[in-house]
Amino acid sequence: MCGIVSYIGPKDPVPILLKGLRRLEYRGYDSAGIALINKNNLQCLKKAGKVSFLESVIDDSAINGFCGIAHTRWATHGEPSDINAHPHLDLKKKIALVHNGIIENYGAVKEVLKKRGISFTSATDSEVLVQLISELYYNSKEKLSFEDAIRAALQEVVGAYGIVVICEDEPGKIIAARMGSPLVLGVGEGEFLIASDASPIVEHTRNVIYLDDNELVSIKDEKFSISKIDSKMIVNKTLTKIDLTIEEIEKGEFPHFMLKEIHDQRHSISDTMRGRFNLDDGTTQLGGIADYFANILSASRIYITACGTSWHAGLIGKHLIEEYSRVPVHVEYASEFRYRNAIIDNNTIIIAISQSGETADTLAAIRKAKELGALTLGVCNVVGSTIARETDAGIFTHTGPEIGVASTKAFTAQLTILIMLALKLGRKKGVSRQKGKKLIRALRHIDQDVSSILNISKKIKKVAESTWKANNFLYLGRGVNFPVALEGALKLKEISYIHAEGYPAAEMKHGPIALIDENMPVVFIAPQDESFPKILANIEEVKARKGIIITITDKINNSLKLLSDHTLVIPKTHKHVFPITCSVVLQMLAYELAVCRDCEIDQPRNLAKSVTVE
Ligand code: GLU
Repeated sequence: MCGIVSYIGPKDPVPILLKGLRRLEYRGYDSAGIALINKNNLQCLKKAGKVSFLESVIDDSAINGFCGIAHTRWATHGEPSDINAHPHLDLKKKIALVHNGIIENYGAVKEVLKKRGISFTSATDSEVLVQLISELYYNSKEKLSFEDAIRAALQEVVGAYGIVVICEDEPGKIIAARMGSPLVLGVGEGEFLIASDASPIVEHTRNVIYLDDNELVSIKDEKFSISKIDSKMIVNKTLTKIDLTIEEIEKGEFPHFMLKEIHDQRHSISDTMRGRFNLDDGTTQLGGIADYFANILSASRIYITACGTSWHAGLIGKHLIEEYSRVPVHVEYASEFRYRNAIIDNNTIIIAISQSGETADTLAAIRKAKELGALTLGVCNVVGSTIARETDAGIFTHTGPEIGVASTKAFTAQLTILIMLALKLGRKKGVSRQKGKKLIRALRHIDQDVSSILNISKKIKKVAESTWKANNFLYLGRGVNFPVALEGALKLKEISYIHAEGYPAAEMKHGPIALIDENMPVVFIAPQDESFPKILANIEEVKARKGIIITITDKINNSLKLLSDHTLVIPKTHKHVFPITCSVVLQMLAYELAVCRDCEIDQPRNLAKSVTVE
């Protein structure tokens, strides 16, 4: 969601900013723009559409400078258009601003500014902020400095922002501030970058500082200072070294990041588990939360809160944690949880799951729970992210950067962490060592299982080739595999734009069965476990109504063969590891269907990778 990148230093900022925008494309966006200061002259170019459009406009212009800001916009207020794209300029065209977030009281501020004769060119909330900064800088009685004008403007606005601002009258200075939307400062040799995440920074420097809410960074003359926005109090922050490699953020020989990341699962799940097993004792070790096991075991309840795919991981986590540890678990959408009066006290544990660690609703949910006295734990992929920093403790998924908008390897990593947590808790609550060892053995076999699944990709492709014209898909599973069905359906919607629903298989009779006819593919998740006879009956029900049956199983038998139009057989594994391996098949199926439909797989329309607005 929205990407900011800015540069100040001795090099030509244009290629640095354009490459930075490319690195940020994965976050999802609809328009892009750049502003530069050259001597005392501010130049700005912006375009609706892809970064490549902006690049072609830049190629035809003489835009240059020695410091600059750039942005990929994900529209919240005002349609995607050239005019609404960022950067936004003030009326005098001397100040340029890029913004990520939402200024909630923009309407009221706009009215006040209009009364002072300021006219607006865009429909965005962000323009209000740059006009307000300008008004305070150029026209206030107190003759505020540029930095103080920014501080004063930020006191007037309500909402969430990450901003970077430059001004023609202050060449050589960049100011950025954060409240709710992530910003990272890259500190190089005589050069600095400020970006929404580390991906545009990594090829220039590995030294970064993560800004926290209510912090402002001002950079001038090769020096930076960070202070509180409101009190101006200087904040001393430590440099963090990022261990991201360029290869990790490039797609190499794969046509799409999503496919690369599906293939990464041949080793990424092991990366997540590395150093976290104790096979002899049939348990796991999760150092990040070791100090809190006793609290978790004695908790009155656990809430898992998350959004989207992470919420599906949470549903599977509930199943496993309750099964192994008998601690009650509730799974809540963060956007709902944050606004309801949930039963939270100091005997409640909150587990927040977020790949990016920046999901706005999830962050707000843990902040609220913390205030109410709960212990908060994070399951995040991005080290240094806000949720990782703000939770009391947590477990990193360590799956490497995930660039494809549709989450794949981050989901299986989350599942892996939740299984490991369930087992750890279970072993303390009387689950036998033998049971633990059995689960660990299955987990340790996962690299081979994923490789075998990728070996049937031709079969999966064939299924896609015969079903891609369908307008609807149904995904059915039972027990721990019901959320797997939800996730399979979500993956399909996200990247192929085919409408899909996930249901508990037996619930089909209570509604969706009315939709089944010869045009409806139904994906059955049917491992040969204790629920198999039941799911077989559900398959019969669909067959009787002429639905197209696609079965994913770990053991084929005659009845399945007879009933199914397509069967995808994957390696037999532990029933609690099956959701991971089965998800890889569903990811491949969604991918192949999207390929057949010629969709933009890595940047599906309207979607953002990390949802940093409410
Ligand atoms: N609310 C702003 C807009 O609609 C910023 C959106 C973003 O974060 O990209 O322009």
